[in-house]
Amino acid sequence: MSIAREVHAPFLDGRALEAEGREVRALLNPADNEPIASVAQGTREDAKAAIESSAKAFRESDWAAPDGQRRGKVLYRLSQLLAERWESFARLETLNQGKPLRESKADMLYAARTLEYYAGLADKLQGESIPVPGERLDFTVREPVGVTVHIAPWNYPLQLAVRSLAPAWAAGNAAILKPASWTPLTALSFAELALEAGLPPGILNVVPGPGGEVGEALVSDPRVGSVSFTGSADVGRRILALASAHVTPTTLELGGKGPNIVFADADVDRAVKGVLYGIFQNAGQMCWAGSRLLLEESIAESFLAKLGEIASRLKIGPGLEPGVEMGPLVTREHLANVRSYVEKGLSDGARLLLGGSSAALPSGLARGNYLSPTIFSGVAPGMTIAREEIFGPVLASMTFRTSEEALALANDSAYGLLAGVWTRDLGVAHQMARGLQSGMVSVNEFPITFPQTPFGGYKQSGLGSEQGIRAVEFYTRVKNVNILFGTRKRGKA
Ligand code: NAD
Repeated sequence: MSIAREVHAPFLDGRALEAEGREVRALLNPADNEPIASVAQGTREDAKAAIESSAKAFRESDWAAPDGQRRGKVLYRLSQLLAERWESFARLETLNQGKPLRESKADMLYAARTLEYYAGLADKLQGESIPVPGERLDFTVREPVGVTVHIAPWNYPLQLAVRSLAPAWAAGNAAILKPASWTPLTALSFAELALEAGLPPGILNVVPGPGGEVGEALVSDPRVGSVSFTGSADVGRRILALASAHVTPTTLELGGKGPNIVFADADVDRAVKGVLYGIFQNAGQMCWAGSRLLLEESIAESFLAKLGEIASRLKIGPGLEPGVEMGPLVTREHLANVRSYVEKGLSDGARLLLGGSSAALPSGLARGNYLSPTIFSGVAPGMTIAREEIFGPVLASMTFRTSEEALALANDSAYGLLAGVWTRDLGVAHQMARGLQSGMVSVNEFPITFPQTPFGGYKQSGLGSEQGIRAVEFYTRVKNVNILFGTRKRGKA
């Protein structure tokens, strides 16, 4: 594994390319902004070479064999290797991204479970036979699309990459991964692990580098069979436009502004924990964060007091330090951006209940990108902090009186990814689940997902969905075959 190697480089055809002569990007530890490694950047030419390599591997290896048995075995082996070596991958993820080690551990085990889930599907992709008139046999086959492109964000670097790689591989495709520029380290190590598990060279090529150059070269190429993008809505729109030039099928997993709706009859202790975890996990850098808290008016004050009390006691520090519950934000630039939202909340007249700065944090953390857990109350639906995705540990709380009002507030968003509902009333739970304009609804726990359940958004949160049995279909094409085997072209009337 290449963790100790100082300069990392794009990984093509089963080996790391020469780093020499390339532009090098230094990666910083978000906990103290010290350099941890550097990455020789991929270029437009590397993107083209990766497409050629993947297309060749798809054509010439037996990876795409119709029965899929070999693919299943390799994916299962890869899942086992990742689960066995979770610790070195999790440490690398935390070093590069900043999240607490226990969260990185959960990410690695989730990725391993995803590989295991799709390993089981690899030999179960089948077509159907369709009754047609006359002496004919009509059937469909599902074929892989060939070369698949996967563009990943920096908040769950390896876990989200694997989320789309696993079904693409199960269907027999050759994949190219472009990790986010800030967090490419686990993806590059994973490429070596995949080789060890028996993945043929070229079935995973990893090209780190600038999105505007490497990413655009990948999604614009007519030889690419599908594009899976996870990232911001703005970049998602750009990718959709580029992919449309060749009508390349595209899934978009974009941002969110999730509502967590707490009714007065809820199990408050459980709801407080879910709300807390839903906004301060991963320092709030989650597409599925519950960043809007909608509280029934009668419990708002006591709920916020309890939440604020627990949030103020969260242990903040470097993700590798034992017991840390919230780490730094990914970069200084991102911290500055999140802070600008706190300023905007204050100037718009929201009430700051907790946090909002790094001032109260221990002085030892001054060099890192820390922001203490931040809670605003008295937020009006039109305020920027109620509408835009902040992608940091900043919670905007509002109140409601009736379930109709809660629903209207929750749906008043350009996004619709994950919504949380907290109530003991089964009728209210079902009414909310039916009315929420959201790709995922979770009642009495938050956030939650499984490799076997669809993950996708309504409205500007995305297009298509990842995970579950159906996700594999996106990585296939359906071919209908009609065979006339006799002379009767018409059936009996
Ligand atoms: P981003 O859109 O800035 O970047 C995502 C990826 O796209 C990176 O690899 C980047 O290099 C690449 N990219 C950038 N410009 C590109 C271009 N012009 N062409 C091709 N590729 C390009 O997003 P981010 O800051 O890395 O991640 C945060 C965003 O991701 C948030 O909005 C978050 O909500 C979203 N997200 C969504 C999900 C989901 O499943 N819905 C999951 C995680 C993150």
